[in-house]
Amino acid sequence: MIEGEFLGRMPDEASRVETEDLRRILAVTSDEDLAALIAARLQGSARQVDVVSSLGVAREVIVSQPVTLAIIDVELSDGDGRELLAELRSESANVTTPVIMVARVATRELQAECFSLGADHIIDKPVDMEILEASVSSKLRRADEIRRESRHDALTGLPNRAAFAEAFERAVALARRNEERLTVAILDLDHFKSINDRFGHGQGDDVLRRVAHMAGDTLRRSDMLARWGGEEFVVLLPETDVAGAERALANIQRKLKETPWKAPRGDEFEVAFSAGIASVGSGAPLQEVIARADYYLYLAKANGRDRIVSEKMEVQPPNIRILLAEGDDITASLIRHRLAREGFEVIHHTRAQDASRISGAAGVSLAIVNVEGPDQEGFMLVTDLRGRSEFGDIPIILLTSMGSEAEIVRGMSLGATDYVVKPFSPVELVARVHRHLRASASAQPTTGSQA
Ligand code: GH3
Ligand code: MG
Ligand code: MG
Repeated sequence: MIEGEFLGRMPDEASRVETEDLRRILAVTSDEDLAALIAARLQGSARQVDVVSSLGVAREVIVSQPVTLAIIDVELSDGDGRELLAELRSESANVTTPVIMVARVATRELQAECFSLGADHIIDKPVDMEILEASVSSKLRRADEIRRESRHDALTGLPNRAAFAEAFERAVALARRNEERLTVAILDLDHFKSINDRFGHGQGDDVLRRVAHMAGDTLRRSDMLARWGGEEFVVLLPETDVAGAERALANIQRKLKETPWKAPRGDEFEVAFSAGIASVGSGAPLQEVIARADYYLYLAKANGRDRIVSEKMEVQPPNIRILLAEGDDITASLIRHRLAREGFEVIHHTRAQDASRISGAAGVSLAIVNVEGPDQEGFMLVTDLRGRSEFGDIPIILLTSMGSEAEIVRGMSLGATDYVVKPFSPVELVARVHRHLRASASAQPTTGSQA
């Protein structure tokens, strides 16, 4: 029910774009009579029927556009339709695409073979078009339902991350075409863990649902609210600049504050969030936009929570030092530059054993440690940092190489917080750094005391 409401609040533009998601039916048959019948009878609203007469053309269509449903004749002028069925099933994009096979004589053996290759239905020729139409309609309905379910978060009914990513792509294209502004915000509930701890997970779930509902009600119809994961939400705000997004989020903030929050036993509590806002430049991938918004969210947390921070604001990042133990110069320089750009101070050591000599007074808030290679220095550094109380529980991120599960397992068991596998994306590393700093800031509310 909540789901319906939120969909009802979907932007006109976005819902237009959403229904624009054509169902593409691909029919592959060299039989001209059947081709004509399919073209005439299977058309419908939001449906596009492509009838092709050979395996070769069918393969081209399949790689160039998504196929919602396929109808494949077993006997084709240039080959066997079963080959195409097998190919579809081996591609991740079409593993679940409904496939209806058509055969001149559907013997038991042929049926068994088609089903084992992954066909959903087999129809004999001459094709009874009523049966084919009914089969196509029911399979498309099922595919729609599955698609809907896979794009919504079960707890809040909001679009999920995948749906948000799709909406983002469309919004970027629209914004570019119309030269409009587009903004993304990420919200993270403050001290949400304590709500769970005090009142139970069920109450936590209820808060998430109500926050989703209230935020959805407060935002414009053209905005899209989605659940990013856990107690984090993202908002896509088309035709909105950063100042507009700040106002939109401030409205949600006010609404949460005005709401009397009560646990079943009558205890009152508060629900607040911190948020980061980033404008979307043309061509910026979602990952990069989220990483920026996440950085402002991190600043919002570090500056006391219950606030909204954007690129326009002059919020000083706290002076945060990161210890980097990395022997490879190129990797080290890449990481140093990327972290420096984010306002971090990096203390770099080429050798992990030199890094071990660092004093607790250096005020390091996070360590990135390379544990590649035969020598054990990286692991010793992890052990060392974990054993020294002045480093508390600082996040430790391991840098490992591909295929080195053993290193990861060992490092994590020694107390590392996370790992990144080389070659890695600097954006991803930075996003993880922010995330862990944010998490550790919540574990130790006195962020200012490390310096
Ligand atoms: P901060 O202000 O730093 O964000 O603190 P926090 O407690 O909100 O953040 P932290 O990341 O430490 O904890 C997030 C909590 O959210 C922990 C997790 O159990 C809870 N959580 C995540 N998803 C759900 C969910 O679906 N339901 C409930 N009830 N809790 C959830
Ligand atoms: Mg969180
Ligand atoms: Mg939180």
